[in-house]
Amino acid sequence: MSKEQQIKQAEDALLHVYNRFSLVLDRGDGAYLYDTDGKQYLDFAAGIAVMAFGYNNKEYNDALKAQVDKLLHTSNLYYSVPTATAAQALTKASGMDRVFFTNSGAEAIEGAIKAAKKYAYTRDGHGGHEIIAMNHSFHGRTIGALSVTGNEHYREPFEPLMPGVKYADFNDLDSVKAQVTDKTCAIIFETIQGEGGIYPASKEFMEGVRALCDENDILLILDEIQCGVGRSGHMFAWQGYGVKPDIMTSAKALGCGVPVGAFLMTERVAKTSLMPGDHGTTYGGNPFVGAAVTKVFEMMEREQMTAHVQEIGAYLSQKLDMLVDKYDCLTAHRGVGLMHGLVCTKKVAEVSAKALEKGLIVITAGSDVIRFVPPLIIEKEHVDEMIEKLSAVLDEMDETALNRNKQK
Ligand SMILES: *Cc1c(COP(=O)(O)O)cnc(C)c1O
Repeated sequence: MSKEQQIKQAEDALLHVYNRFSLVLDRGDGAYLYDTDGKQYLDFAAGIAVMAFGYNNKEYNDALKAQVDKLLHTSNLYYSVPTATAAQALTKASGMDRVFFTNSGAEAIEGAIKAAKKYAYTRDGHGGHEIIAMNHSFHGRTIGALSVTGNEHYREPFEPLMPGVKYADFNDLDSVKAQVTDKTCAIIFETIQGEGGIYPASKEFMEGVRALCDENDILLILDEIQCGVGRSGHMFAWQGYGVKPDIMTSAKALGCGVPVGAFLMTERVAKTSLMPGDHGTTYGGNPFVGAAVTKVFEMMEREQMTAHVQEIGAYLSQKLDMLVDKYDCLTAHRGVGLMHGLVCTKKVAEVSAKALEKGLIVITAGSDVIRFVPPLIIEKEHVDEMIEKLSAVLDEMDETALNRNKQK
């Protein structure tokens, strides 16, 4: 089958909710992907911040294969060792006390919202509580997660959504304070905004919101779905601020390719929050994903992945700063660890598409940001290769623009 036929087959049957790149991916190895024609791509997207160990990691693959042959699924009516081991690893790595496994990030957000509402319900003896979320945030596509997503374009067609959500500006403590009422039960935000354009929370904001929450018995929910599991150079990004949430969410790199998410909470919250009958899932945290999560944390720790991310992240950061100095179209650089964004005045979708031609996968965030969320295992040589390819793309686009202007 030709590539065109493969694409047609997909487009004939799949719901058209993505404008996909005309790229049919076939296999991966380390930081590289290969399409069905055998063309190689350096991957700085990692399946949207998922494939922390890159592709085809033998140890990880073997652990999953072994679990497939043993036991895939049991439901949550019974205990299984891989699930328990995964929960232990996650609580240990995060310092949180209790975990509930989900199948996706959006579901983790759903659970976090329910946990916060139930906590306030138990305390006050009634419902009707409010949640404060941030403008330009992204928490997922289900109705609850969409309700706290600060992007009107995503929300509008599906309104009315969950009531009782108020919006504040990220990194603006006063704007959060202005939304607090005696009904506020939770404040939710991403420690580093991802889809919104790679905006790390400021230390003052983290500390200020934490204090505000403590003063008013409001729960702080940190969404670590994109920035967590090593990407920031800390296992969870909030650990780099020394500001601990009451509830946190994880997904994406948590399973490094198997669909798993989680929401976690402190014992203080868990004691008076979700109880038997309040929440559940058929697949969530089954033995298969349990084996994956267990292996991910084992490898993260053994490979001292956070130290590696700090080292390579600093190198990437320096190289991206140099690009901003060199190209007029690049106006700003933000990010930490291996989660970076370049603000670009050229059409970023075009930059992504042209990068593919050069054998580089980069994605976008917001309307004007080129996003870099590579596998965490990359080395300096991968950074150099990416910079070289991206520079070639930007040079070419500059030349095209120059020629166009000359012809005018
Ligand atoms: C991707 C993402 C989500 C949603 O996760 P899904 O697995 O796509 O449902 C939620 N929050 C953040 C910060 C994300 O990056």
